[in-house]
Amino acid sequence: MADTDNPFWQRKSLRELSRQEWESLCDGCTKCCHYRLEDVDTRAIYFTNVHCRLLDPETGRCTDYSHRSERVPDCVTITPEVLEDPYWLPRTCAYRLLAEGRPLPRWHPLVSGDPLSVETAGQRVCRRTICEDDAGELEQHLVDWID
Ligand code: SF4
Repeated sequence: MADTDNPFWQRKSLRELSRQEWESLCDGCTKCCHYRLEDVDTRAIYFTNVHCRLLDPETGRCTDYSHRSERVPDCVTITPEVLEDPYWLPRTCAYRLLAEGRPLPRWHPLVSGDPLSVETAGQRVCRRTICEDDAGELEQHLVDWID
């Protein structure tokens, strides 16, 4: 099979992707819009079911995407540079998978061809979570289903 027969995410590096290709890698799982705790000694990441107040859990979209960095300084914009050490992202995140040289899962819309396959596979988590305004202590909201 010629290299050009492979989909773009297999034949291009992350740095070579067009803006449209880059954006299409996000499967909309919303996992990265949820708070996580980190053990600074081990770099172990503990996910919570507490989502950022800017996330609309019904649509799974940020309600102020263009200003999110100003309004939420901890919100990390994913770039090839930050993906050099992506341990803090969910293990199913397409950006992390490709940065680590692993394939996209079958339920990723680019693979399945079905925009609903993330939801069907139970990977879209935003309707099962709680807003930071209502959550209280993050330590009370640790989950292991999110990743
Ligand atoms: S974890 Fe990755 S794939 Fe999921 S919403 Fe965030 S950037 Fe997109």
